[in-house]
Amino acid sequence: MADTNNTNIVTRFAPSPTGFLHVGGLRTALYSYLLAKKSGGRFILRIEDTDRARTVPGGVENILTSLSWAGVNPDEGVILRDGEASESGANGPYTQSHRLEIYKKYADELVAKGNAYYCFCTADRLAQVKEDRQANKLPPGYDGHCKNLSKEEVENKLKNGDNHVIRLAMPDDGVCTFHDLIRGEVSFKYSDVDDQVLLKSDGFPTYHLAVVVDDHHMQVSHVVRGEEWISSTPKHIYLYECLGWTPTLFAHLPLLLNSDRSKLSKRQGDVAVLDYKEKGYLPEALLNFVAFLGWNPGDEREMFTLDELVSEFSLEKVNKAGAVFNIEKLDWYNREYLKKLDDEKLLKYIDTFMPEVARNSVNYKNILPRLMHTLLERISKGSEIAETYTENISYFFEKEKIDEGMLVWKSLKDNPNALDITRGYIAEARAILEGMPVESWDDREAIKGALWPLTEKYGRGEVLWPLRVSLSCRDKSPDPFELCYILGREEVLNRI
Ligand code: GLU
Repeated sequence: MADTNNTNIVTRFAPSPTGFLHVGGLRTALYSYLLAKKSGGRFILRIEDTDRARTVPGGVENILTSLSWAGVNPDEGVILRDGEASESGANGPYTQSHRLEIYKKYADELVAKGNAYYCFCTADRLAQVKEDRQANKLPPGYDGHCKNLSKEEVENKLKNGDNHVIRLAMPDDGVCTFHDLIRGEVSFKYSDVDDQVLLKSDGFPTYHLAVVVDDHHMQVSHVVRGEEWISSTPKHIYLYECLGWTPTLFAHLPLLLNSDRSKLSKRQGDVAVLDYKEKGYLPEALLNFVAFLGWNPGDEREMFTLDELVSEFSLEKVNKAGAVFNIEKLDWYNREYLKKLDDEKLLKYIDTFMPEVARNSVNYKNILPRLMHTLLERISKGSEIAETYTENISYFFEKEKIDEGMLVWKSLKDNPNALDITRGYIAEARAILEGMPVESWDDREAIKGALWPLTEKYGRGEVLWPLRVSLSCRDKSPDPFELCYILGREEVLNRI
């Protein structure tokens, strides 16, 4: 079935607020968004907070803030309004913990129709079943004990107030086959599918009941989610069947992998989206990088705006194979997008990441706008500014001690008067610089042009090396014309 021919596709991103939004979640949200937007449809954000124990405070806000930073904004559902989580749309509530009555109604309906049953097994008994099944090398799952309770037994236990859950009665045989929009035809034997709990003893639904009820009620047409959910899909399809509803279409996205093809780890990049922001990745860079985790446009293009992604995206171009997370590629994207920033934005960006000690320097405001492009050639993200500050740029802001021996160019090393000769060259260079018109200080070529005759007279290394060292106090730094341009007249004349 071609996803792209559909009009008005409705998708949803349905995260559980059990932690912060990671890149895998951002990819699911982005692909869902792109698919819906391309068809002129709707993208819903639903919060699946049925696992009370694992819900973390601030989780919802983190998800919304991360999505909004990346520009992947829902049309409907839980949205960010004035910085706070709020709801919008006609099919709400969009937070599962606010929909308990709806789920209970369907769980009861399923019991009444014989598609689900009460289960009174205690935690101890379930632990025993688990142990026995392990010992007998059976797949994990419930043994169906309560499926066979008589009507009277069930009524008595309910009257007695015995703790219970409601389980889905999966068929004992038959096959569930569905067409996954990425993986093609997928089949599961019903006999391999466990009698899933639908409603827990605390009155909360499990994910499986809630997801089916909500996708149906919210008119979702396409479910886009990670591959880890594929084995749950037969339960969902069976539930749709029991409830007499048409199932959504499904697209299960490939896994995200480390470079050694193991499952993506924290160490290699599976960290919160906002951590990438903190490090100085631009939203455009992360978004393009994430878009390419399992998808590509089929040609050489690599940089897209969100709108361009909307028109280019299709599920047909999503790979089945796991997508390798290559952080160098993300760094490349970031550098490319940093290069596109105008000077004002770049200055603001670089400034945010500069260490305090640089900011306290009297020349900070003069130097930074001139230094930023040079700095950009050496970093791929803001966090590297502080990390490489001493190595790369501290000498622009803090005076360093000069090692006089370093001033002498190698051709003069054996000359007993090397230092005096070198001092003479620098003094001449200083005089030239001092006499240079003020406008020339804004132009590296003009600075070079002014100093060049001196290099022709005494030699390039002989003049430029000590000039550079006296300005940077380092054996490695940009050339002296660049240093003069960045440091400015006053500081240059002082330093020399
Ligand atoms: N709440 C599930 C999650 O956290 C959603 C799975 C789905 O999209 O059906 O990933």
